[in-house]
Amino acid sequence: MKPGVVTGDALLELFAYCKQVDCAMPAVNVIGSHGANAALAAAREAKAPVIVQLSHTGSQFYGGKSLDNSAQKASIAGSVAGALHVRAVAEAYGVPVVLHTDHCAKKLLPWVDGVIAAGEAYFAKHGEPLFSSHMLDLSEQPIEENLEISKKYLARIAKMRMTLEIELGVTGGEEDGVDNSGVEHSKLYTSPEDVLRAYDTLGPVGSFTVAASFGNTHGVYAAGNVKLKPSILRDSQEFVKAQRKTGDEPLNFVFHGGSGSTAEEIAEAVSYGVIKMNIDTDTQWAFTDPIKKYMDEKDAYLKSQLGNPEGPDKPNKKFIDPRVWVQLGEKGMTARLVQAFKELGSFGKFEF
Ligand SMILES: [Zn+2]
Repeated sequence: MKPGVVTGDALLELFAYCKQVDCAMPAVNVIGSHGANAALAAAREAKAPVIVQLSHTGSQFYGGKSLDNSAQKASIAGSVAGALHVRAVAEAYGVPVVLHTDHCAKKLLPWVDGVIAAGEAYFAKHGEPLFSSHMLDLSEQPIEENLEISKKYLARIAKMRMTLEIELGVTGGEEDGVDNSGVEHSKLYTSPEDVLRAYDTLGPVGSFTVAASFGNTHGVYAAGNVKLKPSILRDSQEFVKAQRKTGDEPLNFVFHGGSGSTAEEIAEAVSYGVIKMNIDTDTQWAFTDPIKKYMDEKDAYLKSQLGNPEGPDKPNKKFIDPRVWVQLGEKGMTARLVQAFKELGSFGKFEF
């Protein structure tokens, strides 16, 4: 693989390779250049491509929380800024990177509309899209509407050889993520029939990936509260294969809510054709934890600009400089991502 942003056919080849060797890429949510740099550093250490993604609010934060976000202006600008930053530095890190936008519900479509428009302008100039892929999360709508809108967007971005991620069923959330174990075949568990409908609707239009629900939940919860059923992914692959006479694993699955999952659960999901696992809560913690420790340890040096245990006039500049502690956060995030590469089986499985 070549360092830089992976788009078009190269991305499809990357997905196919992941399934062939049973590995997946971590997709990390970033809210600023520090997170993007930490992700690229992790990819360099793991010798594997990474997916850098921006959520709606992450994009807004990237653009700056003081910006007016009416008509999604700040979120659109932040997404574009994040993508351009990654494009500017990816080759310096020497790693391949996939650029993606995360969950976009129906009411947020103007955000992705704006990002796609910016991508089309970029494509006209450079012959490749700004982002590699976008996600629409219309899982709250009826499936007919979900697939109808997804199809329309896929038709638009397929012209730039981009991939669309869709969501079927609902990823459990922070509020309702506790003890869903009794809710069989509800929206928390995608049905193979729905996956087939997506395959039939979107397959002829372009490249797509499916965030299928198998009890996965955003956030980290105490053990036992989340009942994962990765076999839903296997059953869906086999159902589509049998119904449409395809080869093995016709679908590319995405694992949302990877934080807090065990290595065994991750490996099982990957073995059923998961090519991307989203990780956010765990990398948030990995970023904040070392900063908290630093602030605690250096407490006496962080009370004022002058004066610490070594003397009342001693300057504290080198302790106060945000680069010192932001870098500790970055290092923590990088280390956590390297662990994710190992659990996803992608550590060292690539050449670039
Ligand atoms: Zn998600």
